[in-house]
Amino acid sequence: MLVKHKTSIALAMEKEHCYYTQMLDKKKIKEKLERERDDLLLQMKDMGKLNEETGEWETTPEELDFPESDENDKADRFEDFEARSSVMRTLGPRLTNIVKALKGLNKESFGKCEVCKKDIEMARLEVNPAARTCKKHIEG
Ligand SMILES: [Zn+2]
Repeated sequence: MLVKHKTSIALAMEKEHCYYTQMLDKKKIKEKLERERDDLLLQMKDMGKLNEETGEWETTPEELDFPESDENDKADRFEDFEARSSVMRTLGPRLTNIVKALKGLNKESFGKCEVCKKDIEMARLEVNPAARTCKKHIEG
């Protein structure tokens, strides 16, 4: 009797687990990704532009309004350019990741770990929808 009882609970839990897995809310994740992508694009457009030929983002140097500006000013501009370039170097791969995740969203492999092919933890996907590995196989 007791065993039977336990089994039915286990079955119910299993069912619930399946249900939860199917609940992987792609629409919600897609919206989140698109929001993030638009945010990134806004920031990046502010600092650079997409090179249509290479498909890479390039930091645009600030327009030199006064060509005869003094050396200090030039140094400032250079520092500013360096700072923006370094931000761009961080944002670029993030954008690539998001675009990739958006493309992969409709594939069956979405939400599966690239290493062990198991489902990626829902909590992890919610934090990072572009995640391609489970917690156990986080890169780096
Ligand atoms: Zn894994």
